[in-house]
Amino acid sequence: MSSGIIKRLTSSDATFDAQLSALLAWEEGTHEQVESVVKGVLADVRKRGDEAVLEYTHKFDKLAAGSMSQLVYGQERLQQALANISEQDRTALQAAADRIASYHKHQLQESWRYTDEMGNQLGQKVTPMDRVGVYAPGGKAAYPSSVLMAAVTAKVAGVPDVALVTPTPAGQVNELVLAAAAIAGVDSMYTIGGAQAVAALAYGTQTIPKVDKIVGPGNVYVAEAKRAVFGTVDIDMIAGPSEILIISDGTADPDWLAMDLFSQAEHDEDAQAILISPDQAHLDAVQASIEKLLPTLARNEIATISLQKRGALIAVGSLSEAVEVSNRIAPEHLELAVADPEALVDDIRHAGAIFMGVSTSEALGDYCAGPNHVLPTSGTARFSSPLGVYDFQKRSSIIYCSKNGASQLGKVASHLARAESLEAHARSAEYRIID
Ligand code: NAD
Repeated sequence: MSSGIIKRLTSSDATFDAQLSALLAWEEGTHEQVESVVKGVLADVRKRGDEAVLEYTHKFDKLAAGSMSQLVYGQERLQQALANISEQDRTALQAAADRIASYHKHQLQESWRYTDEMGNQLGQKVTPMDRVGVYAPGGKAAYPSSVLMAAVTAKVAGVPDVALVTPTPAGQVNELVLAAAAIAGVDSMYTIGGAQAVAALAYGTQTIPKVDKIVGPGNVYVAEAKRAVFGTVDIDMIAGPSEILIISDGTADPDWLAMDLFSQAEHDEDAQAILISPDQAHLDAVQASIEKLLPTLARNEIATISLQKRGALIAVGSLSEAVEVSNRIAPEHLELAVADPEALVDDIRHAGAIFMGVSTSEALGDYCAGPNHVLPTSGTARFSSPLGVYDFQKRSSIIYCSKNGASQLGKVASHLARAESLEAHARSAEYRIID
């Protein structure tokens, strides 16, 4: 059964490996152009500060502000938005924020110390960062949920100063974003976006104090700017297009699974939605559901392009083979739409978030299950993790030496220091040797 909407692949095909690699390949077509625009914006904001930010906000967001003060949103304005949104909106945002906070409290790391046999005390002191910047995308759509995911998590980590930036194209402010900022406890907010916002946070301007870390998703300009300022500040990750991979044993309703695939495909044309199953009849049924339901989506044009370009239904020999293919892909979101997800989860080695069982749609994780929705994409789940409290905490080593400990360790240190021809190191250690 073939379809113009989504590719069908079979793992037993001789060319399957090549087909899978082609499916996963993703290149930002305009990379060099984006890189050069971003480089110019960063250098200009670094040099001219507020003035450059105002000019780029005018140019890229069609927002002509006379001064930066027009782009600064104070606490009063955030609280006003919170008071003015509907009761249902307020309740939903608060419920999501509470669950995000509860989940992330489990990630808090404590400082620790132990005493060794020489009477030395060794340990680790955990401290939050002083000031972080949250980027909430706002070009094509506004994302109050992303404000909650990043800012609530930073606050749970104990960050005293959280700055939020989000573009407001043509000055169109999203009240839910402001209300989410109020609920999350954001300390300052600026309606700027793109590379100019990343530059302002990284270098500081006359109005915007420099931050220590910038987190949050954004388009290619934001991603490229974050890549370029890494080192001046820390960043969370470079986010690529969103992805979902579903492993299905055929027990879930095909309509549900089609909609789960669409939930990522509707994000943008480069998003990736893949379903893997050992059951051919089930794959046919999911394909039929895709064809039936796609036209009913408001964003069906975006979802159609995404499914045609990067989507696939993959037939495999068994569920364990499905897990193997999934580990090769290392997806951002992995749904285990099977009767017994516990039987598979131990073998899953690389995935940003794992959704267990047919009731657990990825959409619940996007908003309110509790775990973070800022997740590693493009196979980076092989080496990185969801945004978390640990992104906002850092560790200092604690070393206390007793007189006896300094004496005993001094002998080891001086020996190694002399082997490295570092005399001052050796003599510093030797001064403290007491026998
Ligand atoms: P955005 O805020 O990331 O980008 C808008 C900004 O891009 C503008 O303010 C402008 O400064 C800059 N820009 C646009 N065109 C430009 C140009 N030609 N030259 C220079 N700068 C330019 O908003 P967006 O565009 O809507 O993108 C948001 C992205 O974030 C989407 O890809 C979406 O899928 C993704 N997203 C991801 C998650 C997640 O958790 N992974 C959540 C929400 C959104």
